[in-house]
Amino acid sequence: MTHSGPSAFAEVNEKVAQAGEILGLKSGVINALSSCEREVVISIPLRRGDDVEVLTGYRVQHSSARGPRKGGIRFHQDVDLDEVRALASLMTWKTALIDVPFGGAKGGVAVDASKLSPIEKEEIIRRWTRSLVHVLGHHRDIPAPDMGTDARTMAWLMDEYHRLEGFQPACVTGKPVELFGAPGREEATGRGVALIAAATLKQHDVKVKGATVAIQGFGNVGRYAALVCQELGMKVIAISDVSGGIVDKKGIDIASIFMHKSLENVEADERIGSAEVLEIECDILIPAALGSVINDKNASLINARFIIEGANQPITISADRELRAQGVVIVPDILANSGGVMGSYFEWTQNIQEFSWPIEKFRRELDTRMEAAFFNVHKVSRKYSVDLRTAAFVVSVGRVSEAFELRGSLV
Ligand code: NAD
Repeated sequence: MTHSGPSAFAEVNEKVAQAGEILGLKSGVINALSSCEREVVISIPLRRGDDVEVLTGYRVQHSSARGPRKGGIRFHQDVDLDEVRALASLMTWKTALIDVPFGGAKGGVAVDASKLSPIEKEEIIRRWTRSLVHVLGHHRDIPAPDMGTDARTMAWLMDEYHRLEGFQPACVTGKPVELFGAPGREEATGRGVALIAAATLKQHDVKVKGATVAIQGFGNVGRYAALVCQELGMKVIAISDVSGGIVDKKGIDIASIFMHKSLENVEADERIGSAEVLEIECDILIPAALGSVINDKNASLINARFIIEGANQPITISADRELRAQGVVIVPDILANSGGVMGSYFEWTQNIQEFSWPIEKFRRELDTRMEAAFFNVHKVSRKYSVDLRTAAFVVSVGRVSEAFELRGSLV
């Protein structure tokens, strides 16, 4: 992670403590909610030519107070224990916020996914699954894709799990539709981000049609967010990925570039750097790639009225403070990108029931539940006169602490 300053996990826990104080929770309970239930670190020997390279893999289970732990697996060179802890904790708050019966977890492997062949990727995820099978399972801990992993990776994970434990497709979500996946899951995170962007505009009496959007990231989240923003009538004027960015003030036709793997060879009016997209003048800015991309160095250069956090932790706490002082409205990650885990919940329930929904039902359920979470966060924000991120944490910390106390987890 490009994180500088306090650790990512400490930043999440700062919000947990703040919400705990607002709710009047006991300090011991706040401490419990700021710790991870279980952390497993593994080594993954990977064949490289005649030699072996040893990678480090992780699974951190933050909380099971409200249900089986749930969270993605990230393949990225910057993955470390602190980042995985932070992301596992965010999953607890996200699942509680949208009221699905899951806890929180996250996994990762410190490796540059762009340099792996498909066979190497398969070897890594199979080894990761074999080493962690004792803590995984559809009622224990359910992985999903994240940066650097995708539906194919989840298919390999499921296959390895089945070899060891027998048939149980609900052991992982984000699978290919042809292999127990749910139609709608792949687009769910980006769709949710776009819906929240539209709802935010309406909430502030800004017309959705023609509202300008800039997006960092053209992966699973960024590309679907861009596509659905366009479908809803917004104008995507800039988008970037790791190879750089493109700008067109008249609006980029996202549908026509959607199938491009990278933006590198896409023709455009103007080309910019990967990070420059964050400084474009627009109504809505959607960071949908890495964490901490908006920080003390560039907070004053942001030129957007609303920021919808597609990525996890794209804004550092101090930059968040500065932007709010400038009047920027920030919709936090645990609300804005929760469509992914909502979609995973739908896939999980369908696998368990051995019954599949048509995509229309999937989208309807997603839209209704995201809207409910959005309005609830606004209601709590008004009730306590706090910003949206604090309000979101108040809702989720309240729910998790209640479950924690009711379970009598201390005996
Ligand atoms: P992905 O691997 O599919 O795509 C990542 C994108 O970011 C790619 O387009 C890549 O080129 C781009 N990128 C990487 N480095 C960059 C840089 N320095 N500058 C600009 N762009 C850069 O990942 P994803 O699944 O889309 O996830 C993106 C973010 O959203 C992550 O923070 C992830 O945790 C979060 N998220 C994902 C999901 C999901 O369902 N996939 C759900 C919730 C949150």
